[in-house]
Amino acid sequence: MTDLKKLKQDFFKALQPIYEGGEISNFFKWLAEDLLDLKTHDLLLESEANLDSKKLVEFKKAQSRLEAQEPIHYILGYTEFFGLRFRVNTSVLIPRPETEELVEWILEDQKFSKSQLSILDLGTGSGCIPIALAKHLPQAKLKALDISSEALKLAELNSEDNNTKIEYTQADLLTLKHLPEEIDIVVSNPPYVKFNEQAQMQDNVLKNEPHLALFVKDSDPLIFYRRIAELTSKMRKRPLVYVEINQNLAEETRQLFKSFGFQSLELRKDFRGNYRMLKAY
Ligand code: GLN
Repeated sequence: MTDLKKLKQDFFKALQPIYEGGEISNFFKWLAEDLLDLKTHDLLLESEANLDSKKLVEFKKAQSRLEAQEPIHYILGYTEFFGLRFRVNTSVLIPRPETEELVEWILEDQKFSKSQLSILDLGTGSGCIPIALAKHLPQAKLKALDISSEALKLAELNSEDNNTKIEYTQADLLTLKHLPEEIDIVVSNPPYVKFNEQAQMQDNVLKNEPHLALFVKDSDPLIFYRRIAELTSKMRKRPLVYVEINQNLAEETRQLFKSFGFQSLELRKDFRGNYRMLKAY
């Protein structure tokens, strides 16, 4: 058996108890391309021109991390979001496809807009939202906040990698006095998972992704939305607000924005059929 064939067989055998076949194939392909420098056609032809022992050691290390249920994107160090590549590490949440749909909603609404928009992302993490928006709204001015300086460092790198200009500021949404004026759109995917919802989450998310970015207290799960509603309702010109939401609190989140005087409120489902986004204006 060739080394590559053996490597693949061992990989599948080790991971089958934990992951589905389709997932394992993807993991193998990504790691082989990344760590073994193999191209898709090398993998198909099982060509091993590029294999060397140093690379194999790295590959085996990655395999052990998968066995320990570390998310593949932290192992690779990047993920894809909206067709773009983003660096990720454990200081940021791995961008999710649901969040791509939030970006999509904004772009859909702005399709015919000619104006130079100012957009602010609250809790930017990897910077995935403003960077994806910047790519598709080249005239827009993008700003983003996050409480974590580690996250902002990564977001800066992601902006550079993707050739976008975003104005990042470190700030805590919960203590911020006001938002900058002259913002047309506020977007946010804040922490919204309650501690008592942990049982519904995947183990590898729970064990690896930053709890700061995921969780809110059970006693006040809408704390970030209340701040967003409060801060935006104080602005001279009210911006359009787009937020990703907890599917189990969709109606409560809608009511909350209503109580701050937002007249128009639209909920939208994600591709899984869960209420996942709200637009308020
Ligand atoms: N805005 C980032 C994202 O959507 C981070 C979200 C978060 O950390 N809660 O992935």
